Amino acid sequence: MEPRDLSAQVAYQAGRGIEEVAREHGIDPGDLVKLASNENPFGPSPAAVDAIREAAGNASSYPKASHTDLTAELAERWNVKPAQVWLANGGDGALDYLARAMLDPGDTVLVPKPGFAYYGMSARYHHGEVREYPLSKDDGFALAADTVLSEYDGERIVYLTSPHNPSGGRFSLDAVEAIANETDDWTLVLVDEAYGEYADAPSAISLLDDRDDVAVLRTFSKAFGLAGVRLGYAVVPDDWADAYARVNTPFAASELACRGGLAALSDDEHVEKSVETTRWAREYIYDHLDAPTWESHGNFVLAEVGAASAVTAAVQERGVILRDCTSFGLPDCVRLTCGTRDETRRAVSELNEVLAE
Ligand code: PMP
Repeated sequence: MEPRDLSAQVAYQAGRGIEEVAREHGIDPGDLVKLASNENPFGPSPAAVDAIREAAGNASSYPKASHTDLTAELAERWNVKPAQVWLANGGDGALDYLARAMLDPGDTVLVPKPGFAYYGMSARYHHGEVREYPLSKDDGFALAADTVLSEYDGERIVYLTSPHNPSGGRFSLDAVEAIANETDDWTLVLVDEAYGEYADAPSAISLLDDRDDVAVLRTFSKAFGLAGVRLGYAVVPDDWADAYARVNTPFAASELACRGGLAALSDDEHVEKSVETTRWAREYIYDHLDAPTWESHGNFVLAEVGAASAVTAAVQERGVILRDCTSFGLPDCVRLTCGTRDETRRAVSELNEVLAE
């Protein structure tokens, strides 16, 4: 017995975990600073923690009312109809739903390189093929309409990450619109705004008022601090929003996730603290790190440090876990998630010491 041919699939490489690194180096997990997975250094909103605790008592029932309530709240927030909000098991789950809804076997998608690995993985799971548009370090990973259109060849889905992981750059709304205008009618432009809260820029969701070829991904994993509960969503055009009923995995957004998400949405203070600290940390890293960086609109900064795997290993021995960007095809870069002020200062100081050696 064998699974189908999975040779084109790559395994997802997550940032390293605190427990894993603590065991490897015999360090107390409490002494480690993890800035490798773009998580929220302040944890979840306390309101979400309370709501999840309370929802635990309903864990024996499938999530129905909570799903409806969260969808309605998000629809109001974004000024769309509830049916246009496709809740999912993380933003990753929303990527799967869009691939399921769009791709026939053999259809091709266009993804950024370097970029978020799950776009290609999800498309391949759905029997799609993957082409890449290169982003170049030499021009600062510029995210312009032409960067994408010069590689476009009639693909079914074009993925735009804005803010982009790992460079931190973003597309202007004009660029997104230009790409949607210039691509074929059957091409979906999928704008991934997983880091949207950290960008001082409007969401592409406003484009859905007039278009049926743009969808936007958002998540509770970053600014809302709920990466562990797995909750994200796509906002899709009204014209084909009803496809959700035919592609979604039943109840993939759990009772705990939906109740936690609803509570997190009402906790503006937590999101504001997270976003403000991130803005401070980005500036701190640009100003104090002894390595070239790129301007970031997300909760992380990419830095050019030379041999990234050796540098991350050395920094890790000093108790700071950073993301080696070799798996993104950037073997001379590391990505630092914006931590609390103390965590960020410590990461920059340890990294500078390693770079000075
Ligand atoms: N898009 C991008 C660009 C990401 O970096 C991530 C998180 N790693 C996601 C989407 C998905 O995040 P989640 O599934 O946790 O919502």
